[in-house]
Amino acid sequence: MQEINQGILYIVATPIGNLEDITLRAIKTLKEVDLIAAEDTRRTLKLLNHLNISKPMVSYHRHNEEIRVDSLIKQLKEGKNIALVSDAGTPGICDPGEEIIKKCIEEEIMLVPIPGACAMINALIVSGIDTKEFTFLGFLPLNKKSRKNKLEEIKNSNKTIIIYEAPHKMKNTLEELRSILEDRKVVLAREITKIHEEYIRGNVEDLLKIIDDLKGEMIIIIEKTNTKKENELNSLTLEEHYNFYKNQGLEKKEIIKKIAKDRNVNKNEIYKQFI
Ligand code: SAM
Repeated sequence: MQEINQGILYIVATPIGNLEDITLRAIKTLKEVDLIAAEDTRRTLKLLNHLNISKPMVSYHRHNEEIRVDSLIKQLKEGKNIALVSDAGTPGICDPGEEIIKKCIEEEIMLVPIPGACAMINALIVSGIDTKEFTFLGFLPLNKKSRKNKLEEIKNSNKTIIIYEAPHKMKNTLEELRSILEDRKVVLAREITKIHEEYIRGNVEDLLKIIDDLKGEMIIIIEKTNTKKENELNSLTLEEHYNFYKNQGLEKKEIIKKIAKDRNVNKNEIYKQFI
């Protein structure tokens, strides 16, 4: 159980461009905490100045995350309330945060999220691509083998895919995607909430034609694997149908459920065919 005199770690979302995108609760929290742990203190200082808040800050970034955790935990145990912020958006989402959050759970220190902007959610909701089920991949891995596996996952995904990418790597990533996506819909969400905000819809080929002229922060949203293909599944043999889902990495139980649904029959009937 949490000790009464311990402080609380607030995970505070900050704007992803437009400084007005901060909640009243986030402002109140930043005003009331004893200390702000910020990914880049200079960047957060600009936000604090805009909000007329003056508060002690300490840096908490990817390169000092591990060493900083102990001192922050100590201060939380002494009763200090701390706000964790990243440069933009929600901490922990492709930003520092995970380490201290895990440690707080271990040490039974209370965690309170203060919701707000997150780039991927905003890109997704205006993409026009299916929002019911999606996979957020963050930045694609740099390691060759892991990257190849990720691309394979994207190729076969039956869920919408969301990818973050640095501007200078975007062209290369789109070129890699060209070889696996065929004509699937792709949306590039650029500079969300900023002056040059735009959403470019098309396929990878369309995006590659203009990518050299695009600057700023961007997110790629990709439609799930060809739905037409799924509609054609029922003309396959049962074995081919099974292998289609197996190649997507699904487990036997799930495959049988899916085949039954596609063919509009009871799953026990399909199950019997496989024993
Ligand atoms: N924590 C952030 C969040 O909540 O979304 C993400 C930080 S991550 C280090 C930065 C990446 O997020 C960028 O490379 C870009 O892909 C995406 N991103 C952040 N802000 C964006 C914006 N305003 N417009 C488009 N993409 C953005």
